[in-house]
Amino acid sequence: MKKEIISILTLGCKVNKYESDCLAKKLQAMGFVTSEELIVADYYILNTCAVTNESEKKSRQYVSKINKLNPNAKILVCGCASDANKDSFLQKNGVDAVFDNQRKDLIIDYFEGKLYDDVRLSGFNYNLTDPKIDQARAYIKIQDGCNRFCSYCIIPYLRGRSVSRDISSVVEEARELSRDYNEIVLVGIDMSDYKINDRYALRDLLLQLSDIDARIRLGSLEVSVVTNDLLEIMKGMPNFVPHFHLSLQSGDDDVLKSMNRKYTAREYVNACEMIYSYFPNANITTDIIVGFPGETEENFASTMNLVKKVKFGKIHCFPFSAKKGTRAATFVDTAPEIKKDRMNRLSSIAEELQKEYNLKYVGKGMEMLIEETEGDYLVGYSENYIKCYLPNNKNIVIGSIIKVKGLELYKEGLKVEYGK
Ligand code: SF4
Repeated sequence: MKKEIISILTLGCKVNKYESDCLAKKLQAMGFVTSEELIVADYYILNTCAVTNESEKKSRQYVSKINKLNPNAKILVCGCASDANKDSFLQKNGVDAVFDNQRKDLIIDYFEGKLYDDVRLSGFNYNLTDPKIDQARAYIKIQDGCNRFCSYCIIPYLRGRSVSRDISSVVEEARELSRDYNEIVLVGIDMSDYKINDRYALRDLLLQLSDIDARIRLGSLEVSVVTNDLLEIMKGMPNFVPHFHLSLQSGDDDVLKSMNRKYTAREYVNACEMIYSYFPNANITTDIIVGFPGETEENFASTMNLVKKVKFGKIHCFPFSAKKGTRAATFVDTAPEIKKDRMNRLSSIAEELQKEYNLKYVGKGMEMLIEETEGDYLVGYSENYIKCYLPNNKNIVIGSIIKVKGLELYKEGLKVEYGK
């Protein structure tokens, strides 16, 4: 009998990707063929995103694309965009069911032909763990939801309250994955709020992951989590990689207040200095929103000064875009030309700083995780998250970690050679 095909289309964050991969593994075990591509299929699972108006629009457009490709297909929708507006998806042609963000696991019940009603779960959804993995590194979701309510962000309204996964369940999955993967990335919506019995527990989790035979990398963090105690533990871990993605958003206290971000520019710089005191060669990367409502040229200058002070290895720059349903969407927006100008200025300094950081590794040894081939190169990231380009060699397998040495700046990373 011909196996039915399910195309699983994922938008948005690494947590969405993790959840889609968990669904894929379970559906494959049930005998379905799954694909991550928009191909002709019997069923489509659309895991949507609503972090910006653009991503929400894209989520809706996917339904029309699917209908064009296969008007008879059944479409199952889940994720933040459908949570934000269930009816608008339910009314669309081909949409057979919409699943609550918190209960994506019920999609399995749908394919088992079980009747289900999406009662909300209390706590972490353990029905959606153990993902299929077909890339060089593995992801583990340790936390979901967010209690911070940054004024520009819709996520807390769509992913609910912060919930954390038991340490033992994470360690068990990590041990399992470390048999096949040389790097594991811990992800969450707000991992800095990882708590067990209402006590911050990221340190306890990392302690228990320190003997896992794979590199341990952390997804996005908030300043509040940076303490001497946590850095001490990270320093003591043989498998911890010195890359910190520490979300900044703005370097100006007035703008941070208006964003409802719970730290000052000074506190952010202190946290970075603390990180450098434990990891002098750490790569600190970040996200910055420019043109937030009310941001003056002086405010923006504070951000530029902070950026030069911290010397980020990479900055993801975003022009503010008002997200319907957030408090910031009610603020008076900044003129597009001002946003464009500030994006240009910040992006060029970001590029300079990235080059400056990467140049430090010309002639220096690193350990590169081979992730894919790109033309004549094997491409992947070093332990400190520099993108490396190594001349292609058929004997090297994707997913292996290779000792390399920096040669010269290349694209947004470094050309490297085999190191000793
Ligand atoms: S920390 Fe802020 S930006 Fe991040 S998910 Fe929570 S509310 Fe959104």
